[in-house]
Amino acid sequence: MIIVTRKNITNEDRARIEKRLTDLGFKLHTIVGVERLVIGAVGDKRLIDIHALESLPGVEQVVPILQPYKLASRDGKPEGTRVKVGKVEIGGDQLTIMAGPCAVENREQLMQAATGIAAAGAHILRGGAYKPRTSPYAFQGLQEEGLAILAEARAATGLPIITEVLNLPELETVAATADILQIGARNMQNFGLLRAVGQLRQPVLLKRGMSATVEEWLMSAEYILSEGNGQVILCERGIRTFETATRNTLDLSAVALAKTLTHLPVVVDPSHGTGKRALVAPMAKAAVIAGADGLILEVHPCPSEALSDGEQSLDLPEFTALMHDLKAVAELAGKRI
Ligand code: PEP
Ligand code: MN
Repeated sequence: MIIVTRKNITNEDRARIEKRLTDLGFKLHTIVGVERLVIGAVGDKRLIDIHALESLPGVEQVVPILQPYKLASRDGKPEGTRVKVGKVEIGGDQLTIMAGPCAVENREQLMQAATGIAAAGAHILRGGAYKPRTSPYAFQGLQEEGLAILAEARAATGLPIITEVLNLPELETVAATADILQIGARNMQNFGLLRAVGQLRQPVLLKRGMSATVEEWLMSAEYILSEGNGQVILCERGIRTFETATRNTLDLSAVALAKTLTHLPVVVDPSHGTGKRALVAPMAKAAVIAGADGLILEVHPCPSEALSDGEQSLDLPEFTALMHDLKAVAELAGKRI
């Protein structure tokens, strides 16, 4: 990191700053300017508090060089992480397609969705059993019954399952069925939940919070990694902006950026990202070109009757058509589907 001092710093302040830095284990290289000192401090600053250094008398600015997310950073692991789920590998040269309804509503609905998406070539079945709804009066999910239906659909189709864990007390139950645990946007900074899934040895898909910066998102991944679970998949699902024409603003630049900052696989959810069925296919294709390792898509056998998110769900013919189009797009991005 680089420390720039205030103008005409006193010898006493300089000595105090240098002592603090050397006590913290840094090697110092100081450039003496006409008015200020520029101190290059070589060492790992990730465990120290930059703001505490900035408040030392005589310090004007502290400029970090290393990222604060040590384990998630691509610096320490230039090759991309591949997360294995049964025969599926996320983060390799295959574009991974996760699809299914927003919520498991009943056995028939999920079986229809599961067999339909499997026939179209999807790799992983999604479906919420515990739903984070804005209203406490809205459908909250079938919960344990939903998990049992998901397990049945896995047995029937062979597709691994991704489903959301909403609360810490349900973690054990959800983890017993899920092949991938989904941490929803609203829980991205539920640090207790992040630490708890970090203690498992099971893949976790971490959605970006709707108001989270890329750095905050990666720091949340760091919570999971720091507990020893390296199988983390990031998911961009749209952020809140001034724009109200779409449900969220799908931040595809964050996808291209995250791929440079971290070795973790990044997938995109254009369903929540746009909130509009007509926008799902174009944004899915754009996500692949932006470098996404996969997509997570809401697909319902009859969107007009869905208990949640019907307006952003594809029906099975629309999903099948998108899968067809994605073949050429994936190839353009150097991936296969
Ligand atoms: C979902 O995947 O159905 C969901 C609730 O997503 P998010 O957490 O991104 O809103
Ligand atoms: Mn949904």
